[in-house]
Amino acid sequence: MGETLQSGELFSNRILALLDVVNSCGLGLWELAGDTLTLDEKAADNMGLDKPAALKWQDFFELVNEADKQETLKNLNTLKSSPGSSAAVDCRLFSKRDGAYAWIRIIGKSYLNQGKPLLLGTSQKIEGRALDVLYASINAMRRELNKKDRLHRCIFEVTEVLLNADDATFEEQFQVSLEIVGHTVELARVYVYKNHLVDGTRCCTEIYEWTEGVESTLGEDFTRDMPFHSWPGLEEILEAGRNYNRLIKDVPSGIRQMIPGGINTVLFVPIFLKDLLWGFVGYERTREQLYGADEESVLASVGLLLANSVIRYDLNKNLYMAVDKINSTSIRAEELERFAYTDALTGLYNRRHFMELAQNSLEKVRRYNSPCYAMIMDLDFFKKVNDTYGHLAGDEVLKDASAVMKNTLRSYDLLARYGGEEFVVLVTDTGKDDVLHLAERIRESIAATPCIYNCIKIICTVSIGVAAFFSGCTVTSLIDKADKALYRAKESGRNRVVFLEEE
Ligand code: GH3
Ligand code: MG
Ligand code: MG
Repeated sequence: MGETLQSGELFSNRILALLDVVNSCGLGLWELAGDTLTLDEKAADNMGLDKPAALKWQDFFELVNEADKQETLKNLNTLKSSPGSSAAVDCRLFSKRDGAYAWIRIIGKSYLNQGKPLLLGTSQKIEGRALDVLYASINAMRRELNKKDRLHRCIFEVTEVLLNADDATFEEQFQVSLEIVGHTVELARVYVYKNHLVDGTRCCTEIYEWTEGVESTLGEDFTRDMPFHSWPGLEEILEAGRNYNRLIKDVPSGIRQMIPGGINTVLFVPIFLKDLLWGFVGYERTREQLYGADEESVLASVGLLLANSVIRYDLNKNLYMAVDKINSTSIRAEELERFAYTDALTGLYNRRHFMELAQNSLEKVRRYNSPCYAMIMDLDFFKKVNDTYGHLAGDEVLKDASAVMKNTLRSYDLLARYGGEEFVVLVTDTGKDDVLHLAERIRESIAATPCIYNCIKIICTVSIGVAAFFSGCTVTSLIDKADKALYRAKESGRNRVVFLEEE
């Protein structure tokens, strides 16, 4: 009885073991003539294919590990060349699914089916082989290396993004860099807090944030002007990182309670500038998951990198503001200078500036004994213009007349508003005829160019007195002489040019 039972158990165990083998076997049929290898689901699975497929010999052979190719080829060729034979080969097949090789035992037998050669085979994964274990650990290492590589690449990517950001694109690029960190280290939130004083109390405010899967806190009341004492222990733990801006992992329970729901792990990188706590960069994760040493070192470096770029951006902003301020004050200084030597209504030099420049010119005239003339130009009956059309109309006439003078004269002729409706010009290095011609052209142009004010044409003329430089004369005496000539022009009917010959 006992024996029967024993052999029965033995038998059923063997049956089960056999079923196990059969279950783990895949079937393949290779029609040699058509070169088609048809695999069932299990065989496809053994070969790392997602579904049963018909392969070509070449497709199959590409999956065979280089080191096993020769042996596999030899065995398959034996089967091909002698129908009825059988062969077995263990080889490593590459699985596209998990990117690794697995040991497969292939047992094949060859047949002739209606004259056509066929190979029928089974394939079975061989578990637990030393090489299998080795390949598995190599794959795990490869995955680990990939992860490390990704982590370290994250530093380069963030650096690159921030380096390429200019002041106009900084905010946007900074957000991109937070996102890179968040995704690479699988975080739920990355943020930057900056310190400042509110009524003498040290506070911090969230200034940048990236989140995924948790609610944003940026702009929330409790993250704005937040006094340090409202987060129990925060200041102390940040201070703990004073010596080197290290990563802080031991978040006090007081803070932990205030962290928004769903967050499990919090890390801080305090940022000290010289000896002052500038602010901190924080990272949060939703899963209770330990950070690897690599992740921690990357997060510490990235924290410094992020804070550094914010500090640089802030400095730039301050610099631009200071430059703007300097520019605006220097513009004011320039304006003041311009006001000091120009006439506000006509934009011409004023009398004081004219006198200075004219004195310099006369010195040269004396030194080189070159020709020099002064012209005084006075608008005729200008009082009447004001009386008839109003003072504003008179202003327009003054502006138009001075524009005509400026356009008719050459850039190096020294023109100024001498006062009221009187203008003065010092003309150097020009002969008498040309000077008189110039004066005549001004007179003609003004008479021919009516001023249009409120759709009214106002015609105004000018009288011009011209005098020549003579030895021993000063700017004042030269102008006096021109004034005399002007008086003559007025006396003799206005709208004319008079040149005074005598000294
Ligand atoms: P004349 O032909 O003899 O030179 O006669 P006039 O009326 O031109 O001379 P007068 O000296 O009697 O009058 C000059 C006027 O110019 C008086 C003054 O109100 C006016 N005037 C002076 N400066 C300005 C100004 O900036 N704007 C205006 N609208 N009028 C001015
Ligand atoms: Mg006058
Ligand atoms: Mg006048």
